[in-house]
Amino acid sequence: MNATAWAWQDAGVCRHPRAQANADFFPGDRRSRGAVLAKAYCGVCPIRQQCLDYALRNAERGIWGGLDDVERDDIRMDIEVRTA
Ligand code: SF4
Repeated sequence: MNATAWAWQDAGVCRHPRAQANADFFPGDRRSRGAVLAKAYCGVCPIRQQCLDYALRNAERGIWGGLDDVERDDIRMDIEVRTA
């Protein structure tokens, strides 16, 4: 994927130095303090929906769009059940 394709991420709150210093967007423990903070930053992010859509389509790991791996896997399973 080229740099232009990733340009939408420049508007992400996670790009802010304070978010990068305090939150953990790729936590080992999805219930850790860093993970909770990451989700809080996602909650005020202007591109949250776009970020979540991207992560769901691309099976990303970590916190994207305010949801962790397990939460996004649940959404994928719901979609599979509804479309089966
Ligand atoms: S929704 Fe969260 S992970 Fe996605 S760009 Fe915004 S702050 Fe970053």
